[in-house]
Amino acid sequence: MYARGCLTGMTDSPRSLETLLAQGGHFIDSETGAIVPPIHPSTTYARDERYALIGYGYSRSGNPTCGHVEAVLAELEGAEEALVFASGLAGVATFFDTVRTGERVVAPRVMYHGAADWLRRLAERRGIEVAFFDAAAPDGLETEVRAGATAVVWIEAAVNPTWDVIDVRAAADIAHAAGAVLGVDATATPAVTLRALDLGADIVFHSGTKYLAGHSDVTAGVLATRVADERWEDVKLARTLMGGVLGAFESWLLLRGMRTLHVRYERQAANAMAIARHFERHPKVEAVLYPGLESHPGHAVAKRQMTNGFGAMLSLRVAGDAEAAKRVATRTRLFVPATSLGGVESLIEHRATVEGPHSVVPPNLLRVSVGIERADELIADLEQALA
Ligand SMILES: *Cc1c(COP(=O)(O)O)cnc(C)c1O
Repeated sequence: MYARGCLTGMTDSPRSLETLLAQGGHFIDSETGAIVPPIHPSTTYARDERYALIGYGYSRSGNPTCGHVEAVLAELEGAEEALVFASGLAGVATFFDTVRTGERVVAPRVMYHGAADWLRRLAERRGIEVAFFDAAAPDGLETEVRAGATAVVWIEAAVNPTWDVIDVRAAADIAHAAGAVLGVDATATPAVTLRALDLGADIVFHSGTKYLAGHSDVTAGVLATRVADERWEDVKLARTLMGGVLGAFESWLLLRGMRTLHVRYERQAANAMAIARHFERHPKVEAVLYPGLESHPGHAVAKRQMTNGFGAMLSLRVAGDAEAAKRVATRTRLFVPATSLGGVESLIEHRATVEGPHSVVPPNLLRVSVGIERADELIADLEQALA
């Protein structure tokens, strides 16, 4: 995967995910001793004296910098291979490009709205059947999966932005019994707390823009596969032909951000838990949606499938209407009123405004992405904004 002369090789010492991440795959440049990999901007790659490719061929099908981060991602996920994309949605679009006319895709009704918009577009233009299920209903998924016809079941382990929990292992069993593959958008539940492939998923997806990169300064997507089968080869070909590969500099930034993923995520999850507990019985808050609370209907499943905290995404249903919720989002002084999630700084947003006319999100819902600031200051900020 690496350009010749650039890497002594990833260590073969057994290592935890934390050590893998901190060391960025354990890179040592064999020529210079550098412990941070170079950025390879080259778009084209030379052939040797036998006219065989030395390493890479042309940058649209990959480059050494993205190859490095892909190798680390594959180990992180327990995947046979990983691919990085120019954005999360480039990864989603490339994956669903492998679904054929007449095949069925099943996904949650409440899910990341960009992926839902893409599925609706495919349904209209490609003749792909898309069925949305209710993640909060006990047999929601089972009733929509049709044996034989269903090609893909696509879920989130906690759906964005209501954070209803989906049992990944149970979803894998349902998908596999119907002959479908299970894809998990694990953006909000990275492998440091939930390893989707270990739970039976075939494909795991991340918006690398979020927790993996972690600093709100790079747009990236990730797909990783349990086995590099025929569909995966098709995904790889589609990435090359559609041109959605992640650039060298962005690949480098993604790897740099991932070195601190486990430390950031733990602090963020601890902050989120403190905020959730504080506002759980607050007169100005109708409900706190956070799987870490014992009162959350998905708590038991979340506890089983998340091994290192309940994540740092939560939503507050403000007592009142959409206007009341929006007022809160304009009055915070530390939380930044902006979309996106997973960065080190805390963000708050009125989700129904951002999602637009297709939104199925409650109008009084504020989505909160908790950062690594001090929890007491974040709580005080929300208190003054609600007052
Ligand atoms: C942001 C996000 C995406 C899309 O990723 P981009 O990098 O913005 O293209 C997909 N799924 C979830 C859960 C997300 O939060």
